[in-house]
Amino acid sequence: MKKWIINQLLEADYRIEMVWISKDILGSIDRESKIIYLNLWSIIYEILLHEFIHYKSPEYDEEEIVEKTFKMLKGISVQEIIQTSNTLLKKYCEELGGE
Ligand SMILES: [Zn+2]
Repeated sequence: MKKWIINQLLEADYRIEMVWISKDILGSIDRESKIIYLNLWSIIYEILLHEFIHYKSPEYDEEEIVEKTFKMLKGISVQEIIQTSNTLLKKYCEELGGE
C-alpha cells in the first residue's frame, strides 16, 4: 500500500467507533461529527464465513464464494453473528496479550 494512504489513515482528523449497524452494513461515516463507524461483528463474521467456504469448497471461484457468503448470511441471526464474533475477538485478544 502507498505510504500516503497509510499516513492518511493514521493521522486524519476522525474518530473510530465500533457499533452494531446491521448484518450487511460493515461500516459508515458521519462527516459532520467526523466519526467512522465500524461494525466489527459483521466484518469478522462475513470474512470468516467467506474464508471458511473457500476452505470447505475449493472448487468454487471467487464470484461463487461471494454469492454463497451473501446467501448464507441472510439465514444467520444477529445474535449468532454477535456471539461468534465476540468469542473470536476474546480468543484472539487473549492470544495477543490484550483483554
Ligand atoms: Zn475469497
